[in-house]
Amino acid sequence: RGMLGVLIAVMLVALTACNLAETDAGDANKGYVGLAMPTKSSERWVADGKNMERLFQEKGYKTDLQFAEDVIENQIAQIENMITKGVDVIVIASIDGNTLTDVIKKAHDQGIKVIAYDRLIRNTEHLSYYATFDNFKVGVLQASYIEEKLGLKEGKGPFNIELFGGSPDDNNAYFFYDGAMSVLKPYIDSGKLVVRSKQTTMAQIATLRWDGALAQSRMDNLISANYSNANLDAVLSPYDGISIGIISSLKGVGYGTPNKPLPIITGQDAELASIKSIVAGEQTQTVFKDTRQLAEQAVKMAESVIKGEEAEVNDTESYDNGVKVVPAYLLPPVSVDASNVEKELVDTGYYTKEEIGLK
Ligand code: BGC
Repeated sequence: RGMLGVLIAVMLVALTACNLAETDAGDANKGYVGLAMPTKSSERWVADGKNMERLFQEKGYKTDLQFAEDVIENQIAQIENMITKGVDVIVIASIDGNTLTDVIKKAHDQGIKVIAYDRLIRNTEHLSYYATFDNFKVGVLQASYIEEKLGLKEGKGPFNIELFGGSPDDNNAYFFYDGAMSVLKPYIDSGKLVVRSKQTTMAQIATLRWDGALAQSRMDNLISANYSNANLDAVLSPYDGISIGIISSLKGVGYGTPNKPLPIITGQDAELASIKSIVAGEQTQTVFKDTRQLAEQAVKMAESVIKGEEAEVNDTESYDNGVKVVPAYLLPPVSVDASNVEKELVDTGYYTKEEIGLK
């Protein structure tokens, strides 16, 4: 009895010491989670990473959060490092979803589980789950916005439109494109929407690494080659950073004045610069994807995985990664323009009125 009591006391002291030492970084005994994010250059990924880090730490997990500055080799090295550190699960928002097959195999060989975050990881059987938004719906929301604002359903037209796609190495980019084309293609086919550049395939309109500067120079070229005698009425843009590049290009050639208003320009992510632009009447629309919800969902998935339980999913057919259909949880995206920006972004606490320039 006496010995047992002493032993228990010693163990309690040791446990308390452990807990104290780990309060900031979480408790590796509960679980250690690697968070591999693509880049800090877009706000959303910073928010995604920080939200997950906070949530995991609040639940007592230890975390290792890394950003790879859009360099594939960095991301692979960071994941290798997490494997060496002995994490239990790695949540990855990939830069190029086709390049992680080998490193994920290494993780699997060490008993480490992998969850794809926002972007599907292709060509691996060792992917437990995928947490994302309804990516097809994102494209539908962008295109339906254009459809509505131009009055296409009421038979108005023809209008001139140009199309921009996302990064060709990001599986999401094809879902956004397919979703958008499901709405736009019938109008293009009937001539109510005219793409003067004739660039309509994903290969023709893609924007490597979602780079706004690349989009800006492509817009420059499209305008000079096709719009010297014509007005551009709408631009399908898949992402806010690209929209901002497009707007700079268009303002450079005289759009954005009372006689020559900017075309309808879509976007995605509700990034601060774009929300300000929407409030100021330049960018027209964006698709808000609440990164707080996605972080929560991914944290739930990771917890289930660590506990050896099945995670909650709501889609088991959309995301075939080339080797298997990855069980996924899809969150709903929301279309935002000047009319609902306050309701969707201020009332939900995503931004303050001051931040976005609303009085
Ligand atoms: C994400 C988008 C984001 C884009 C560029 C996509 O994979 O789903 O939210 O706009 O990457 O970062």
